[in-house]
Amino acid sequence: MEKVDLFAPGSLGTCWYGKYHYMEPWVGCAHSCPYCYARSRRSVHNSLEELRGEFSKPVLQMERPRLLEAIETGVNSGDIHILKLCRFTDIFTPGYVADGLSYEIMEILAKSKLDRVIITTKGVPDQRTIDLMTANPKLFSYNVAVHPAGMWEDSPIKGLDAHLLSTRQRLEAAAEVQKGGLLTTVHLDPVAAGIDDDPRALQPFLAELKRLDLKRVMWSYLLLSGGITDYMSEALGPEVWQEMQDRYDLLGARRILPGQDDTVSYALKKSVLTESTDKLYNALKDGGFEFVICSLKNAQALKNLDKFPSKMFCNGQFYA
Ligand code: SF4
Repeated sequence: MEKVDLFAPGSLGTCWYGKYHYMEPWVGCAHSCPYCYARSRRSVHNSLEELRGEFSKPVLQMERPRLLEAIETGVNSGDIHILKLCRFTDIFTPGYVADGLSYEIMEILAKSKLDRVIITTKGVPDQRTIDLMTANPKLFSYNVAVHPAGMWEDSPIKGLDAHLLSTRQRLEAAAEVQKGGLLTTVHLDPVAAGIDDDPRALQPFLAELKRLDLKRVMWSYLLLSGGITDYMSEALGPEVWQEMQDRYDLLGARRILPGQDDTVSYALKKSVLTESTDKLYNALKDGGFEFVICSLKNAQALKNLDKFPSKMFCNGQFYA
């Protein structure tokens, strides 16, 4: 039976060409984003069933001392060089930040044989974890996943961030680790075309990035899949959810992410994708940002258009 492994190799065709491992110290994620594809993964479902947990209340893969030991053994085995945190959860899950587990794990990583630890988070590390990372700026890289409408007072998609700390708080943590020397990227993920690219969302958001001196940006569009329908409808209300779906090519279901047979996603309609990309591209260019679009999820339809330069497409290494 497919389950979530503590360590799993990356798959070819993903970032860094799959030359990394993921680590999943717990299963489930308290951030509980309504669009999260992890919920519908077979492995997550099976592990949660076995551990008797539910997605929004993460459960440790094994009892805490044994978990820490297993992590220490894994990251010092010599078989893992680049570690990504995490694929199906968030290392800065609030409960584990509060009870010190996130820090204990990070401390093991800081002392390990790893070459690189790539963190992507919608959470906020505590101060001692920030200090630990900034004491090891060559080891850790930091990606804060936020989206422009997260700072827009009248955003129609507020429900996407219902369980997250504020965008401002998350950006401030990113700015602090960047000041400490970490390669830091603001990952606009997921971008809702037609909403996150609205100037009322985008302009104040980019102004905040500038204020914090966060200049590296990457973006990926929201992917729709059958498994998120109920959560999205509940989080956004049926009307906004319907408007959002209207921007997608619902007849064009395809497997977009490699190696994930149990997730079939729908991409944006090409006209919507092009228009939104145009807005983001121009706003980021005019703002003097260094930026790419994630090539994995969105790019094929755009690459054939002459209007965007090839350097706008992530080469697999931009954010790490
Ligand atoms: S933070 Fe990531 S893993 Fe957690 S629920 Fe949101 S999308 Fe899923």
